[in-house]
Amino acid sequence: MSASFRWASSCTDVDSTLADVWAKRQFYLADLRHLPAAKSQQASSWSTGSVAGVTVRAMVLEAQGEPLVERELPRPELQPGQVRLRVRTCGICRTDLHIHDGELPYPKLPLVLGHQIVGTVIEGGAAFAIGRRVGVPWLGWTCGECRYCRSGRENLCDRARFTGYHLDGGYAEEAVADERYCFEIPEGYSDAQAAPLLCAGLIGYRSLVLAGDPERIGLYGFGASAHIVAQVAVSQGRHVFAFTRPGDDAAQSLARELGAKWAGDAAVQPPEELDAAIIFAPVGELVPAALRAVRKGGSVVCAGIHMSDIPSFPYELLWGERVLRSVANLTRRDGKELLALAPQIPVHTTVETFPLGDAEGGLDSLRAGRIRGAAVLMVESGRISR
Ligand SMILES: [Zn+2]
Ligand SMILES: [Zn+2]
Repeated sequence: MSASFRWASSCTDVDSTLADVWAKRQFYLADLRHLPAAKSQQASSWSTGSVAGVTVRAMVLEAQGEPLVERELPRPELQPGQVRLRVRTCGICRTDLHIHDGELPYPKLPLVLGHQIVGTVIEGGAAFAIGRRVGVPWLGWTCGECRYCRSGRENLCDRARFTGYHLDGGYAEEAVADERYCFEIPEGYSDAQAAPLLCAGLIGYRSLVLAGDPERIGLYGFGASAHIVAQVAVSQGRHVFAFTRPGDDAAQSLARELGAKWAGDAAVQPPEELDAAIIFAPVGELVPAALRAVRKGGSVVCAGIHMSDIPSFPYELLWGERVLRSVANLTRRDGKELLALAPQIPVHTTVETFPLGDAEGGLDSLRAGRIRGAAVLMVESGRISR
């Protein structure tokens, strides 16, 4: 058992953690200037956050850049308004990789990664019956008071907390989550196939909406997000052009199977001028490439949370009222819309599964570009008997 582990599953848990971030004057994702000062009683409440004698197996990030470590943790304490979930599956997201590898600064540490959680409610809350299957996304808590929350843009909340980053996530047998941010999982999806909808799907969907109303849409990086958004776009009558790493025949063939009109290397100009493009790959060089492929007045949407530096490019690539923008996080509305839409299309997710104990192997495969579709941890099937 890890004696130093303290679950952070609610807002008050993380205020103290994030006070460290404030002390370092670092700002990331949410603007942290409005954080309350750390309160000493919060620190003391952490140490009582376990249920005596019951432990939860988890893969824990103890230090960025280090492999995950398998731990038996004390069971997380349930706060008012939260549900306790027996985790069934948890999608592996590229954001997990950015946190793991140290490209996103100042996570809660030690940390349970994972923000595409499919679990069964086993305790707490009022919105979901016991036994109900629910999903937990990246957006774990918002303040409800800042200018962004009050204007329907809770994804930009000044004090947002994110699952598997500020709050402990789903690379564990149990998780607790604020029920207001949980979604019902649509019938007809297996636990493994539902998981990638919860971030890859939601971010892809939000990006597609913000791309305008393109007839021809380019998707740069054909992984978990793109393979879902391609199906949504095709169902809407759009023509999809898929761009992959050079020679990635597996991703290109998946794109064609899912209805892409064209699939090829990202360095190549598409056969038709695009109305919009979404960049999922965390590669800054793709920004000028996508601007070059998009018509006048078209949009290029950067969907990732992290990207390598964008090289300088001539103004003429942006000229002609082309729009370059990012997409940050998700709103609960995005989630409800996609989870209602997905079974109607229906979206089929292609997944590669890994047991909980091999989370590191799943992250390695994602980093190396070896995943066809989305990577998912099978948590419940990997349970150990006690
Ligand atoms: Zn807010
Ligand atoms: Zn994600």
